[in-house]
Amino acid sequence: MSRDILKNPLDVARATEPYSHSRLSVFEQCPRRYKLRYIDKVEVEESVGIEAFTGSLVHESLEHLYAMAREGQVVEWDELASHLRNRWDELYDSSVFIARKDTSPHEHLLRAQNMLMAYYRAHRPFQEGEIVGLEHELRFCISGKREHEMIGYMDRLTRLDEGVYEIHDYKTGKRMPSPAAVGKDRQLALYEIGVRRSFPDVREVRLIWHYLAHDKHIRSRRSAEQLARLEAETSALIETIEECDRFPRRETPLCRWCEYCGMCEPLDNDQ
Ligand code: SF4
Repeated sequence: MSRDILKNPLDVARATEPYSHSRLSVFEQCPRRYKLRYIDKVEVEESVGIEAFTGSLVHESLEHLYAMAREGQVVEWDELASHLRNRWDELYDSSVFIARKDTSPHEHLLRAQNMLMAYYRAHRPFQEGEIVGLEHELRFCISGKREHEMIGYMDRLTRLDEGVYEIHDYKTGKRMPSPAAVGKDRQLALYEIGVRRSFPDVREVRLIWHYLAHDKHIRSRRSAEQLARLEAETSALIETIEECDRFPRRETPLCRWCEYCGMCEPLDNDQ
């Protein structure tokens, strides 16, 4: 890659688009990757890994399940399994990348089906409160030295009793974090700030992560002090990004998975 793309003026683009948890995570991982992706908008062809492919189809199946539940209809298991298989047949092709060759595409499909089945059995008839949104987009502002617009997409937002909201997030990876680690998760806590600012009747917000591969879930609540601290820390991070002019490379083992691997050249100001 030419260094020219790194000489572009740091224009207003960095501040005009809303920030998301994943965008902030990219900066924390490597400022140069952030610049290439969000400021220079360097496009590269990215192959989709089988885990991400499987995860997106499981999410889509759960969205279908709850969209029907919102209409008062319970999708039968056979129908849901067919929905998953049909979407797999429609979308799966050789461009989906499989790193571990000892697991076949069919075994990945079975894994997806098993996750879905365990969730289905535990949650049928899917009437846990009023569904406010599925893949629900949330835009809200947080304040630090300045005001910053945030965006997020919640897998499912439900309202239980008056003023009690639940933010649900589905995880399809093999890793199961500890409750303590989940208690520090930034993404859903930021969504809580957004929900509290978007729905005037909020009294309580519950954060719920569904670890589908383990058939387990973890719940967390955040105090007003924790949310205030999170808002201050997130605003400070955004201000660091907006004041950044060097965007140094940060080489780690994760470079192997970076879309710019082999393309980002060291600059004089890199350490
Ligand atoms: S390859 Fe590594 S150093 Fe280069 S942009 Fe990606 S994460 Fe940063």
